[in-house]
Amino acid sequence: MKLILLGAPGAGKGTQAEFICDKLSIPSISTGNILREAVKNGTEAGKAAKSYMDAGALVPDEVVIAILKDRIAADDCKNGFILDGFPRTVPQAEALDQMGVSIDAAIEIDVPDAVIETRLGGRRVCEKCGASYHIVNKAPAVEGICDKCGGKLIVRKDDQPETIKDRLRVYHEQTAPLADYYRKAGKLHTVDGTQEIGAITAQILKILEA
Ligand code: ADP
Ligand code: ZN
Repeated sequence: MKLILLGAPGAGKGTQAEFICDKLSIPSISTGNILREAVKNGTEAGKAAKSYMDAGALVPDEVVIAILKDRIAADDCKNGFILDGFPRTVPQAEALDQMGVSIDAAIEIDVPDAVIETRLGGRRVCEKCGASYHIVNKAPAVEGICDKCGGKLIVRKDDQPETIKDRLRVYHEQTAPLADYYRKAGKLHTVDGTQEIGAITAQILKILEA
């Protein structure tokens, strides 16, 4: 199963990817997590990406495409994968097609901008393992501490209020057109991302069974 999750930043792609990859026993691939890891480790890709990420802009296509291509060549991707946060531009989607990757479904998690703004403002991430929390919707057992690894929870630089607006603008300009791209390919399914987390997962799994 090769699956793409589409949706605005904060639509819940990461949360759904975690649940679904568990269910289907395939890896979930977040280009955002890979990039943050690269920044932390100071790799060439990380150096190229950092300023864009901090500003809430997209990292250049060639950088992200190379990272993704590498990742899906790994052994654990043989039976499929879930892409969370890739593609984010039409050229990235075209690159995926050119790699010969045939997608089973593109699931768009639809959430209005106003809801996104409050969600991202409350988001906290583990500085150690990257796990994602929300102060209201998905609070950790102990405030400020990661349930999974005990790491410290922080506000991502790109979750600052001014940067959130920029990311939403970038999303509408560059990523939202992908819905049309996959609709034309007959692959698009849209789910209401304001539902309860479990209801969204159930709906996605049902789409995949069909
Ligand atoms: P979110 O979905 O919450 O916006 P991600 O963790 O997916 O965040 O991505 C964080 C940042 O990493 C993005 O704002 C962007 O700068 C960069 N990034 C991640 N994936 C891509 C991509 N496919 N193309 C370009 N930039 C990307
Ligand atoms: Zn952690």
